[in-house]
Amino acid sequence: MAEGSIFTKIIKREAPATIVYEDDDVIAFVPNRLQAPVHLLIVPKKEIPTINDVTEEDAAMLGKLFLVAKKLAKEKGIAETGYRLTMNMNEDAGQSVFHLHMHLLGGRKLGPMVT
Ligand code: IMP
Repeated sequence: MAEGSIFTKIIKREAPATIVYEDDDVIAFVPNRLQAPVHLLIVPKKEIPTINDVTEEDAAMLGKLFLVAKKLAKEKGIAETGYRLTMNMNEDAGQSVFHLHMHLLGGRKLGPMVT
C-alpha cells in the first residue's frame, strides 16, 4: 500500500468523508454505500491490510475499535435495539478495501449472517 488506501486519503483529508469520530489511533466515518440506516466504518489510522497482518503491538488499537463502536452505537441510539460489527478479510469475505476496518451496522432488523 505504498500509495495509501482510500481510507488513508480520508484520514489525511485528501478525500471527502463524513467523519463522526477521530482520535490519535482511530477514525470513524460514513461509508459511500450504506447497507443499513446506521452504517459506520471504524478504521485504525495505521495502515494494516487485514487481521492476518496485525501484531501484538496492535492489541490496544484493536480493543479501541470495539470501544469506539460501543460509543457510536450509543450515540446513534442503537445500543439497546441492537447492531452488528463485522470485519471482512480477503476475497472470500468480499473485502474491497485493504485497510483494516470494522463495519457498525444497525437501525433496522438485520438478516441472518450470510454463510
Ligand atoms: P469491505 O467490503 O468490507 O472492504 O468494505 C469497504 C467499505 O468501504 C464499504 O462500506 C464501502 O462503501 C466503503 N468505501 C469504499 N470506498 C469509499 C470511499 O471512498 N469513501 C467512503 N467509504 C468508502
